[in-house]
Amino acid sequence: MKRLGLLGGMSWESSIEYERWINQEVRDRLGGTASADLVIRSFNFADIEAMQEADDWDTAARTLSTAARDLRSSGAEAILMCTNTMHRVFDEVQAAIDVPLLHIADATADAAISQAVRRVALLGTRYTMEQPFYADRLRAAGLHVSVPDEPDRTMIHDVIYTELVRGIVSPDSRGQYLAAIDRLVDAGAEGVIAGCTEIELLVGAQDVAVPYFPTAFLHAQAAARFALDS
Ligand code: GLU
Repeated sequence: MKRLGLLGGMSWESSIEYERWINQEVRDRLGGTASADLVIRSFNFADIEAMQEADDWDTAARTLSTAARDLRSSGAEAILMCTNTMHRVFDEVQAAIDVPLLHIADATADAAISQAVRRVALLGTRYTMEQPFYADRLRAAGLHVSVPDEPDRTMIHDVIYTELVRGIVSPDSRGQYLAAIDRLVDAGAEGVIAGCTEIELLVGAQDVAVPYFPTAFLHAQAAARFALDS
């Protein structure tokens, strides 16, 4: 089994779930007392959030690249950034290491395509919904990507930063998310991507009438498969 390196804390509300899901998959596959071989670097999310707000992606790239090299020095044979948004600096971090950086959008696109879903709606932070880095990766995999209109984008972004990363899971916000999802499905989306790793803590597949793609879970599963199979 290969050792995985996790860049977490973005936020820890979802990265602790990554650790659980990767370990669960290893236990399911290997049985007994087997568990995943992990090295974890968990950031102070307040620092990361400040870089995002300042549009300072260069500092973010340097910060994550340094941490990725540290995980590599600790024996990681593949690395994950446990967040969608920070895939904004995927290319820079991948260039800093000589092992695969497993892309969260690739795991997500694979799941959509395997369910024959082509038209997906993407929910996430404003960065993920409005900048090209994430949707373009999905499009390159063959998906047609839509994002919510305003004011839904602002509502979705604000709930992430003022509630979900702070551990607040509100039924009222779940209702607002589901109403936004209904509008996207009415406009033609065949599936919905929870393109922020905390969204799946608020909305589950059971809440949504169309196929639903929880990116953190799918990323964790892909990582466990990499550790066990490659
Ligand atoms: N975890 C979130 C994501 O998947 C948002 C927090 C962050 O900006 O990293 O995008």
